[in-house]
Amino acid sequence: MTMLQPVLRGRTRSLWLQDALAAEPGAEAGEPLTGQTRADVCIVGGGYTGLWTALRIKELDPSVDVVILEADICGAGASGRNGGFVSDWWSKLSHLIRLCGLEEGLRLARASEAAVGAIGAFCAENGIDAHFVHNGTIWAATAPSQVGVWDHAVDLCEAHGVDVFQRLTPAETAWRTGSRIHLGAVYERTGATVQPALLARGLRRVALARGVRIYEQSPVSYVDRKNPPVVNTDRGRVVADTVVLAINAWAAALPELRRAVLPMASDMIATEPMPERLAAIGWTGGESISDSNLMVDYYRTTRDGRIAFGKGGLAHSYLGRISVGFEAVDGRISQTEQAFRRAYPSLANVPITHRWTGPIDRTENNTLIFGTLDGAPAVHSGVGYSGSGVGQTWVGGHFLASRALGRRDEWTASALNRGPWALFPPDPARFFGGIAVRAAVHQRELDLYAGRTPNPAVDALAHLAPSGMKKE
Ligand SMILES: Cc1cc2nc3c(=O)[nH]c(=O)nc-3n(C[C@H](O)[C@H](O)[C@H](O)COP(=O)(O)OP(=O)(O)OC[C@H]3O[C@@H](n4cnc5c(N)ncnc54)[C@H](O)[C@@H]3O)c2cc1C
Repeated sequence: MTMLQPVLRGRTRSLWLQDALAAEPGAEAGEPLTGQTRADVCIVGGGYTGLWTALRIKELDPSVDVVILEADICGAGASGRNGGFVSDWWSKLSHLIRLCGLEEGLRLARASEAAVGAIGAFCAENGIDAHFVHNGTIWAATAPSQVGVWDHAVDLCEAHGVDVFQRLTPAETAWRTGSRIHLGAVYERTGATVQPALLARGLRRVALARGVRIYEQSPVSYVDRKNPPVVNTDRGRVVADTVVLAINAWAAALPELRRAVLPMASDMIATEPMPERLAAIGWTGGESISDSNLMVDYYRTTRDGRIAFGKGGLAHSYLGRISVGFEAVDGRISQTEQAFRRAYPSLANVPITHRWTGPIDRTENNTLIFGTLDGAPAVHSGVGYSGSGVGQTWVGGHFLASRALGRRDEWTASALNRGPWALFPPDPARFFGGIAVRAAVHQRELDLYAGRTPNPAVDALAHLAPSGMKKE
């Protein structure tokens, strides 16, 4: 038997989910599972991973009976809370090649780029107005030592004939981002943005229309590793040929994944709408922006003229537990507000109207992990987006659908199916070590902003952060 950890209900819905649910009266109630049912495939988790997997299964074989069980409502997890950056894997190409070889690395990066376009096309074809804007993304330096950290990634792509990056001069960078804090950047034309919760709720609507049965407010307490597996909620159970665990950072409490996935919080704020002030600073192109810090700052504009600004990595979990600190951001949100004011000093008096947080399933090297539970070949899991799953859950859905249907194709043949690539130290060393590393990373950032050379001990400690947090 495999116990799943409880899902705490977020105290505060994100700006995005509040807006999306305003158009769906009664959606919070959901329809729970009661009694026993049978399914060909039972998916646990109603975020992008679960929904894309269900949609891909239906695309491959519409006769397959698919059930989704979601503890809260679809989109209540990271999928309804994220920054809405739809990004690809070109900046991680060298890493993909290292893990999977040249051919497969290039295939995965191409698939990740295709995912961005496919999400836009899916929305257009299915009447999902998820505010999809395909205007690229800017990877910026905010300290002199960060200028050019993208060179290796850009050069490697160019060497393979991939023309997606454009280096920006300091003047162009400041002009396009509306802030002189940005000292240089590279622009990647393939990136897009969405209103994330509208995307999640739209996927749910289309999945229902295609015959997927979705039960919300149905937390799965345990999965019997029988043949066939049985998925148990407090009020019902599903007997299924195949189970897919699409539970993001909540999977980190599973014994198989505990040392491979470190849940980290990502915190977000949003300003009040201020389109005229965005026009005044010149950030009107719809590009999303991320900086080059280890605890990354990421920011974008919204259709109604807000800035939504996030900061990753200010908290992490003990023993893979998604505690209240991943649902309530009160104690630490001032750090994200300070980062916003530092990036946009000219907007110092703009009110912040929304604050929220959510869990990220970070792996040591940012790599997806697909596998089965020990002794349960029909129970699959897919996890490890490490804070960039908005686009890549589309790819994950392809992997998991092929696995669930037992297909032999490029997705099941991929090296990403080999389970965990790298392990973190066990807790409590990981937890307490992580606190020390984060303090060093923070001090290092402050030093770089102030133009100081970081103390060598602080620098060394900061570099113990997961390799996936480091830029190329
Ligand atoms: C604040 C924040 C900002 C982010 N910004 C970006 C960004 O800009 N770009 C980007 O690419 N990525 C971003 N991410 C990451 C991205 O949101 C995720 O990678 C992506 O949403 C993962 O989708 P998912 O379906 O795997 O997970 P989720 O959306 O978290 O879905 C998992 C679901 O499983 C459910 N669940 C868990 N346990 C159980 C159980 N026992 N029974 C039933 N259901 C269960 C949860 O309730 C949840 O709804 C961000 C994440 C956060 C939190």
